[in-house]
Amino acid sequence: MEAVTETMVRLPALVPPPTDLPPRAAALRGEVRAFLAQERAAGAWTPRADVWLSGWDERFTRELGSRGWLGMTIPVEYGGHGASPLDRYVVTEELLAAGAPVAAHWVADRQIGPTLMRFGTEAQRQRFLPGIAKGEVYFGIGMSEPDAGSDLAAVRTRAVQVSGGWELTGTKVWTSGAHHAHAFFALARSAPRDEQNRHAGLSQFIVELDSPGVQIRPIPLLTGAHHFNEVVFDGVFVPDDMVLGEIGAGWRQVTSELAFERSGPERFLSTFPLLTALVGELLANGSTPHRELGGLVSRLWTLRRMSLAVAGSLESGEAPELAAAVVKDLGTRYENEVIDVARLLVATPPDPGAEGGYARLLADAVLHAPGFTLRGGTNEVLRGIVARGLGLR
Ligand SMILES: Cc1cc2nc3c(=O)[nH]c(=O)nc-3n(C[C@H](O)[C@H](O)[C@H](O)COP(=O)(O)OP(=O)(O)OC[C@H]3O[C@@H](n4cnc5c(N)ncnc54)[C@H](O)[C@@H]3O)c2cc1C
Repeated sequence: MEAVTETMVRLPALVPPPTDLPPRAAALRGEVRAFLAQERAAGAWTPRADVWLSGWDERFTRELGSRGWLGMTIPVEYGGHGASPLDRYVVTEELLAAGAPVAAHWVADRQIGPTLMRFGTEAQRQRFLPGIAKGEVYFGIGMSEPDAGSDLAAVRTRAVQVSGGWELTGTKVWTSGAHHAHAFFALARSAPRDEQNRHAGLSQFIVELDSPGVQIRPIPLLTGAHHFNEVVFDGVFVPDDMVLGEIGAGWRQVTSELAFERSGPERFLSTFPLLTALVGELLANGSTPHRELGGLVSRLWTLRRMSLAVAGSLESGEAPELAAAVVKDLGTRYENEVIDVARLLVATPPDPGAEGGYARLLADAVLHAPGFTLRGGTNEVLRGIVARGLGLR
């Protein structure tokens, strides 16, 4: 077990060193690794698979905030650090590679901050961004509904204008972390549906999840754990100053938010801690190198190069929707293949009751795997985006 633990601490080096990241990134990576090693040595948490969905740890999140590793790209005047998306990339890939508990801040840091910078009012930025950067304000994603997942424009939640604001009625579903989060952006229909232009008449609202009329019901995972929720709005009042962006521009805004949601390293690193542990198991068993393992590691290198290219393109202000879809499709399939190879090469059965180690990592990975290719847009839908981007019909 000693040897395995040691290897697990050492092996995040499997993520290749940067060749085209700015020179300052190496120092930043070193700082993050030193912090993670210190946390591990103190037994603050145990590495897990799919931590960005299930590793909710507000202490850890606040600790990251105090070190300046949240809200990194948010300007300093809003409590952020004015760093580049590539700096943020380095921090996020190290956290994911280590299997650290990052779920509490994940959505807020990844997409809410940048979306508020793009579409939020000055008052909304002042209100939410400093707390996001400190790791004290948590957000969910209020997009999907029972009959509106891939076909998001089919949302039926209604927003009706009333004195001083809007009244929301409807049901959101698969809302990760809503039972802990302070707020989410709800996509709702603010004008009747027009069959000629289904994307018109949609708007986004910042809904505080303790508002009167909001009911949050758990939807347990296969593991029995509670991460998902159904969120029901029964005439929830949202004041005018909590409208996000423009009324009627919800589709344009939500697709821009999805570009942040789809393009990060979490789309191929959810099972990286299992890969690390697999190498540890093989070393501990005195196994000779395996072709399958070599294949996984070399593909990881390629995926990371592609993902970094997407991050670089975002940094230069582009909207690399097609490239992000390709990386997410390949990356989420790769996450599943790590599980297949682990099961092929090591006979240890998964153990969802174990405190940590290989059997627990394997169990969490297996039980979370069905969601990898669904969340954030299914692979079939992403391939549709790629096909359209290539001009195919
Ligand atoms: C782990 C996890 C976390 C999630 N967290 C959130 C969250 O926090 N907030 C939120 O709003 N949502 C969340 N979701 C919901 C997620 O965005 C939806 O599950 C996803 O968009 C698919 O929608 P659906 O489940 O309604 O499936 P459907 O849209 O009903 O799709 C069913 C099947 O049909 C296929 N299909 C549908 N349309 C097409 C098409 N045009 N071409 C080809 N195939 C098609 C799909 O690929 C899929 O295989 C989460 C989902 C998961 C699994």
